[in-house]
Amino acid sequence: MANQIVLLAFVAMTCSLVIAFEPKPLQDFCIADTTSSVIRVNGFPCLDSKLAQADHFSFGGLHMPGNTTNPLGVKITPVNVAQIPGLNTLGISLARIDYAPGGVTPPHTHPRATEILTVVKGKIYVGFVTSNPENKLISKVLKKGDVFVFPIGLVHFQQNLGSGTAISQSSLSSQNPGVITIANSVFGPNPSISDDVLAKAFQVDKSIISSLQAQF
Ligand code: MN
Repeated sequence: MANQIVLLAFVAMTCSLVIAFEPKPLQDFCIADTTSSVIRVNGFPCLDSKLAQADHFSFGGLHMPGNTTNPLGVKITPVNVAQIPGLNTLGISLARIDYAPGGVTPPHTHPRATEILTVVKGKIYVGFVTSNPENKLISKVLKKGDVFVFPIGLVHFQQNLGSGTAISQSSLSSQNPGVITIANSVFGPNPSISDDVLAKAFQVDKSIISSLQAQF
């Protein structure tokens, strides 16, 4: 009988915890107060709403081309909660991507967001790969005005196939989508993953692993 009461109490407690979960914003907005370093929440603490100004919700300069003179030939200009504190708790952000001819956004994933990409200029080859065990490549060549979706968590890439520069804009379903670039994560972490692990994982000689690690 005592055991049953304890069990009942436990069930009641866990049920109330589940019901109490609220994924949607519980106020009009919550401007990130980046100066408040003491409180730890899932996001940033809120600035007093009476202090809200238009600047908390805006960003300028997205018409400016990014500098693509780098080995990948790509420049990403993010517009997330780090640039617009008013995005805090709202679950959305965006980015501009500039591509030199042949420029590549290398295979990467966003751990917290689905991405929807619009081609603003040029011809861009895009694709993502489905989960194990299928690992099916879903890819397409896009032209200006075309839209493509990269589902949350899946590895994806882009490449400018045109002879001129290309531009795309992406919207992402998180104020802070995060980026995990596969090559950097595997071959460039600090400290390194053991070459024994990587040689076995990729079924190649350790010298090949070393030359890949040297690139990152
Ligand atoms: Mn992406």
